[in-house]
Amino acid sequence: MSKKKYSQKYPLVWQKDDFYIEIFCSIPNIATGILLSTDEHKFVIDPGDGILRDLNKNISKEEILDISDIFISHGHHDHVGGVWSFLTYMSVLRRQKPLSIYFPKGCREILSIHNAFLEVYSDELTYKINLIGIEKQRKINKGSLIIEPFKVNHNEMNEDGSSEYVPSLGYKFNYNQKSICYGGDTAYCENLVKMSKDSDLAIIEAGAIDENDETHLTMQQAEEIGKTAKEYFLVHVPD
Ligand SMILES: [Zn+2]
Repeated sequence: MSKKKYSQKYPLVWQKDDFYIEIFCSIPNIATGILLSTDEHKFVIDPGDGILRDLNKNISKEEILDISDIFISHGHHDHVGGVWSFLTYMSVLRRQKPLSIYFPKGCREILSIHNAFLEVYSDELTYKINLIGIEKQRKINKGSLIIEPFKVNHNEMNEDGSSEYVPSLGYKFNYNQKSICYGGDTAYCENLVKMSKDSDLAIIEAGAIDENDETHLTMQQAEEIGKTAKEYFLVHVPD
């Protein structure tokens, strides 16, 4: 008997007290968009296309201006497509507070978007952008929230069938004895296995098109990793 297709409805929401995450969407080749918040923090993770629409649907403009950091897993367009419009929108709202963007070191897309953005808007920019390329798996301290970036194993296929490593990270967010592990896009990866285990929530991509797909996890691999966490969401599932 054929297995029932995994059907997914966005948004996916998880909350423990004031530790909140909402995945607006995570659709391969189209868009990702995630909001993580506590009473003191507001972060955006992987702002793909549509991020401004989804943020405005869910939180106020004042709250959008409170977003202090953006975390990028890797530079593919379905994870960074909304960065340009987010940066522009902050200027439209006359943002004053600095904004930090964390990304895997070597991610050309973020550097290019940032450079092009400054070229166009530096005269009228109302806020400072801090670019933080992550190379070492060092913890990031944000008061009561600690973020652990970890390397994952995402590749892209070339025309000739060879594959190329994409600088790629997952992030584990620890707050108030609870933890959320977001793996980004990755093939099977020991770091992800380790970081997902015993998390309160693991967000695992299941993007493989078939068993031979070396760039993403199969549904079975993703489920196996997810089950080692207390709860899990499978995301990035192809239609
Ligand atoms: Zn990708």
